[in-house]
Amino acid sequence: MNIPTELPEYLQPLGFIDGQWCAAVSGAAFEVLDPATGKKITSVPRMGESDTERAIAAAHKAYPAWRTMTAAARAGVLEAWAASMRARSDQLAQLLTWEQGKPVSESKVEIEYAASFFSWFAGEGRRIYGDTIPPHLPDTRILVMRQPMGVVGGITPWNFPSAMVTRKSAPALAAGNCMVLKPAESTPLSALALAGLALEAGVPPGVFNVVTGAREDAAVIGETLTSHPLVKKIGFTGSTVVGKHLMAGCVDGLKKISLELGGNAPFIVFDDADFEAALAGAMICKYRNTGQTCISANRILVQDSIHDRFVEALTARAAELVPGHGLEDGVSLGPLIEPRALDKVERLVADALAKGARLMIGGNRHSLGGTYYEPTVLSDVTPEMDITREEVFGPVAAIMRFSDEAEAIALANDTQYGLSGYFYSRDVGRVFRVAEALETGIVGVNTGLISTEIAPFGGVKESGIGREGSKYGIEDWTEIKYVCLAGIGEGS
Ligand code: NAP
Repeated sequence: MNIPTELPEYLQPLGFIDGQWCAAVSGAAFEVLDPATGKKITSVPRMGESDTERAIAAAHKAYPAWRTMTAAARAGVLEAWAASMRARSDQLAQLLTWEQGKPVSESKVEIEYAASFFSWFAGEGRRIYGDTIPPHLPDTRILVMRQPMGVVGGITPWNFPSAMVTRKSAPALAAGNCMVLKPAESTPLSALALAGLALEAGVPPGVFNVVTGAREDAAVIGETLTSHPLVKKIGFTGSTVVGKHLMAGCVDGLKKISLELGGNAPFIVFDDADFEAALAGAMICKYRNTGQTCISANRILVQDSIHDRFVEALTARAAELVPGHGLEDGVSLGPLIEPRALDKVERLVADALAKGARLMIGGNRHSLGGTYYEPTVLSDVTPEMDITREEVFGPVAAIMRFSDEAEAIALANDTQYGLSGYFYSRDVGRVFRVAEALETGIVGVNTGLISTEIAPFGGVKESGIGREGSKYGIEDWTEIKYVCLAGIGEGS
């Protein structure tokens, strides 16, 4: 196994404000742990209100020069940042696995995904077009321009500790804003690595700041960002409960907020599906990142006539997964992020079994100990079970049975969440009907993998507001300004 012994040289275990590495004003620090072993990796500062205010002031100071650079010049900086990431992709992937736990092969995919946002938004920043509108008066002209907002805040989760940072900071910076970012307690190092590479790429001091904090500090940092008059917008990825809380915090200042929140994705397999493709899609959609993604298949719905065969085949595939340390060769399933995640998975499985679910495989803590959980398949799952209402965020496939298309759609939409939904079918009419009927922001048809920087990512219902990635993803980081130019004369 290839567990690193030290941090990369471009990263210091400190906060990053105004282009400088810095400790917390309080001097306090918290430990970052390897979730696979529970061992300490390093300590980083427990920052709070005054540190966050300092970062906001630094971003505010940097803003005039950054916003008045040409879009092309900002794009050059972002491209250099992406290049620095790609040049270090193996090391960044190793660091990501070390603090987060996912197999390093998945971390490599995440690092490329993360870098792709810098490349993509370097381009999109150059295409923030305005409008001219036919005027309402003869001597008037109407112009519409899109402008940056100023200082913006980003708050990101631990499950994609690199990509969630770039998915926010790339469009924000490309549009001319300056950012204060708060990464998750469990995974600050990937964000700090990005800060180190920002220095190397020539991101000016203050344009990108990282404020680290322990879980106890999150509310204070969040409140400082949402209540500060200089902060014009918040971009958040995380749980629905925290997202709602942050949105409430933005009310006083009428601050813009975009929210990428939790999901409860249905994964529907119709009997006309390509069976093997659906099986492969379900495996990746369910067990990738040990099921800890907001777009994981949370409820697998299988049509009657192929139900038993599908359950049997998925159980056999789940048995082939290899749990272990993500830096070990051949491992395909990492640990859960922390003990309370393990408790949640145990609670949901126990509730399902108590209400009549059938355990096909797994169902226990793994013999590896720590936060490892066995790859698990449950069948005969029904809507009364908590596992169909809450995000599992673990390696547990919950399979439900349905008889026809109408029932599948009704079951799929029976949730307050609406992030992603998937289905497998080869009937072209059904493909359109079901894609249109699913109440989700994202639909995967005949695929379990939908993330790409070029497509809009985001949810409906209680899964969020706004979109990240794609040409739409930059709009949320700009304001529209209407310029009414009068008195220009009548012309001839
Ligand atoms: P979380 O508890 O909501 O935490 C997310 C971030 O918010 C972390 O940085 C966290 O800091 C911070 N935070 C917690 N309480 C806060 C508060 N009161 N004020 C301000 N910030 C606060 O979510 P998580 O458990 O880390 O992440 C998993 C969730 O994210 C799942 O629901 C998943 O579906 C969702 N997610 C959504 C997407 C998407 O694109 N829709 C993508 C990935 C994940 P600490 O870590 O220090 O507590």
